[in-house]
Amino acid sequence: MKYVFAFEEGNKDLKDLLGGKGANLAEMTNLGLPVPPGFTITTEACRAYLHDKRLPDGLTGQIEARLTALEERIGRRLGDAADPLLVSVRSGAKFSMPGMMETVLNVGLNDESVNGLAAQGGERFAWDSYRRLIAMFGATVCEVPAEDFSHALDEAKRHKGTRNDLDLDADDLRALVGTYKKIFAKHVGRDFPQEPREQLDLAIRAVFDSWNADRAVLYRRQERIPADLGTAVNVVAMVFGNLGPDSGTGVAFTRDPGTGAPGVYGDYLANAQGEDVVAGIRNTVPLQELERLDKTSYDELLRIMTLLEEHYRDLCDIEFTIERGKLWMLQTRVGKRTAAAAFTIAAQLVDEGVIDLDEAIRRVTGAQLGQLMFPRFDLSGAPEVLTSAVGASPGAAVGRAVFTAEHAIELAGQGEAVILVRRETNPDDLGGMIAAQGILTSRGGKTSHAAVVARGMGKTCVCGADDLEVGRNEFTVHGTRVAEGDLLSIDGTTGRVYLGEVPVEPSSVVRYFEGDADLQDPLVAAVDRLMRHADTRRRLRIRSNADTGEDAARARRFGAEGIGLCRTEHMFLGDRRELVETLILADRQPERSAALDALLPLQRADFVELFHEMDGLPVTVRLIDPPLHEFLPSLTDLAVRVAVAGERGEDARHDERLLTAVSRMHEQNPMLGLRGVRLGLVIPGLFAMQVRAIAEAAVEVARAGGTARPEIMVPLVGAVQELETVRAEAEKILAEVIGDSGVEVLIGTMIEVPRAALTAGQIAEAAEFFSFGTNDLTQMGWGFSRDDVEGAFFWRYLELGIFGISPFESLDRDGVGRLVRIASEEGRAARPGLKLGVCGEHGGDPDSVHFFHEVGLDYVSCSPFRVPIARLEAGRAAV
Ligand code: ADP
Ligand code: MG
Ligand code: MG
Repeated sequence: MKYVFAFEEGNKDLKDLLGGKGANLAEMTNLGLPVPPGFTITTEACRAYLHDKRLPDGLTGQIEARLTALEERIGRRLGDAADPLLVSVRSGAKFSMPGMMETVLNVGLNDESVNGLAAQGGERFAWDSYRRLIAMFGATVCEVPAEDFSHALDEAKRHKGTRNDLDLDADDLRALVGTYKKIFAKHVGRDFPQEPREQLDLAIRAVFDSWNADRAVLYRRQERIPADLGTAVNVVAMVFGNLGPDSGTGVAFTRDPGTGAPGVYGDYLANAQGEDVVAGIRNTVPLQELERLDKTSYDELLRIMTLLEEHYRDLCDIEFTIERGKLWMLQTRVGKRTAAAAFTIAAQLVDEGVIDLDEAIRRVTGAQLGQLMFPRFDLSGAPEVLTSAVGASPGAAVGRAVFTAEHAIELAGQGEAVILVRRETNPDDLGGMIAAQGILTSRGGKTSHAAVVARGMGKTCVCGADDLEVGRNEFTVHGTRVAEGDLLSIDGTTGRVYLGEVPVEPSSVVRYFEGDADLQDPLVAAVDRLMRHADTRRRLRIRSNADTGEDAARARRFGAEGIGLCRTEHMFLGDRRELVETLILADRQPERSAALDALLPLQRADFVELFHEMDGLPVTVRLIDPPLHEFLPSLTDLAVRVAVAGERGEDARHDERLLTAVSRMHEQNPMLGLRGVRLGLVIPGLFAMQVRAIAEAAVEVARAGGTARPEIMVPLVGAVQELETVRAEAEKILAEVIGDSGVEVLIGTMIEVPRAALTAGQIAEAAEFFSFGTNDLTQMGWGFSRDDVEGAFFWRYLELGIFGISPFESLDRDGVGRLVRIASEEGRAARPGLKLGVCGEHGGDPDSVHFFHEVGLDYVSCSPFRVPIARLEAGRAAV
């Protein structure tokens, strides 16, 4: 088995085997770019090592051979006392895992070769490199606390009376090496290894092992990176940015990763080694400054940046080092970018003729579009950033800091906007979380309780702000104290926390979807272009869930091609409650009919408005679904009202009747009780009234010259007999009302009970369409009570990796998805051309949209704000 590849032997398409860093180093080498020579040990070797707990046979020999070739090529031997070759040992997995994995620089230095290095580059440089090796090797290979080394460095600087590490001279650094060696020996129980090959082998093993470090495991789980890929190891000849003022190191982007604007972006640090740039030890200068410092290298870098962009056909980010005026490339990859930059860059590259529009929509995501649709903070006033942590649930929230759920509820009750600040949240905080505009925690990541619950509620959340010291009614952060009642602004997209009230500006992208487009804005123009293309590509139709004319109108502006779910229960609220109460309390048919007769014209008017807004487009109306007692006051409220009235001697007969009814109707598991089609079969005339209202509304719209296309949807069906009963009654009414008006009405059902999915072939005989109610199907498929589980234990399930994302957020393809697949196939087998759709939150979830495309549904339906996301993802699924 070949475990070791020289850079000349690889290329950018071998990421699985060589990791991203190794594959791209190989690619640059073969492009003829100045990459220091080196080789890559494969992920296969890593997997074998992790599995067998020892290096695979042959690996040591292959490393030896490659190392010898490297030594011969450079003309130096690893750790040679007179003129040493030094190497870096760098991790690099298939997917970038920033900050998770290990790198050791300057391997090959020891008490002798440090003198050899000094003869080449000077005493100061040599001892500086040696102290870096001991610290990096100690921390990454031998688990010596990194702070012990940085404290010793701080101490040396303090002793010298400086804050700049460049003021430490060769003698100071030599002394520091002595201190570092003592720290090393104390923690490890042996001296710092002097043998260069031993250093190299230990470093390679440490990089392999770092794949399974706790933080790496956690990171992969959160980012949904498979756990079994392993990392490659790159051994690269060292080049030195710390050789003096004509040397340095930097990072560069070929376009602005924040906005996508073309131009030169990056940071440069003279006389430094790679890790100093990110570590923020000294202030970097903008990359443009390099033009003044070293024009030759700057021009060369720009030339290479252009070349890399043309080659990768995308934004690249780059790490480089300049050694005495000579430029070396140390890393490149297609760079990360913000959502706004993703859209602008994709459109720019189309303009530049680099990619086509299909490729452009592959390079943006619905999640990014979603981010762009949240309001944003207007940062022109340069507000004070208190800290930056994990953006766990997007949005821009402003409010007064509160530290307990009770205070959150209390203040919110007085009309104040509040931000709930907690060390971490637990189920007791739920009420406070609902009351707050946003949630800020100092512990936990994207799967913490706070993050999961906030996302479920669509509430802004920043978590894991670990530099916050959260007390009982205040917190401090870097010396600033924020007390209860102080104003805070938190950004759930970027994770930034600001002191005071930062003005919020509406999203330019939402304005565009609303029809108020500023096409001069490059972002809006890019979104417009990509959305248009997605629309021409997608096969799935996109509908919206909407209950009112207003929702329907917005949905249509956002591009909805019909309504996939109108929940009629919303039409039973407000001043219509009384009629519903009468309906429920009636124990004789005449009273019941009177209540239904009174509801009929009200419902009809609602439907007329909807059909009018959706003129010419299909409108799926779901017959009433929730248990009727949801329309009555709660048992406790009624009991109190009756008791109080009794004490005061007031007449409480109405409330008493309600109380009896509510007690009678009480259910242990209302979600599994008398609801959906069951109501229609038990309460005479209820569904008939709704069907009549729909038909009459459609005829009215048709008479006025419009086109109404109602689709009547029966909820919670589990057996075809239920549907047949409802259908027989409905058809009679339809025949009577519609007459020769030319209106067409479809009758279909939701598939949301597992039994319905499994008997879809039978049900399709009585249904002209299916709409998957994936919320209930998930609830009943998993046996999860949606209202309880997210707050109660989902965080634990996510932590354990039982699922990577809540199945209510993204469809569980293996289980619930299988039900969808079975029902689609068997439904269409029984009734070719059966119309298939989905309503429920999954209809707007990017990953789920791809699944529905694959299964062959006709449409997805989601909330109006998610319609653009679904449009884009449906287009992406098709290319
Ligand atoms: P990361 O993946 O965390 O960026 P790297 O492996 O890229 O880790 O290395 C960390 C730093 O060390 C980078 O700034 C890189 O440029 C620098 N570096 C790595 N190898 C060498 C080398 N052979 N010569 C000089 N600098 C190097
Ligand atoms: Mg790097
Ligand atoms: Mg349902």
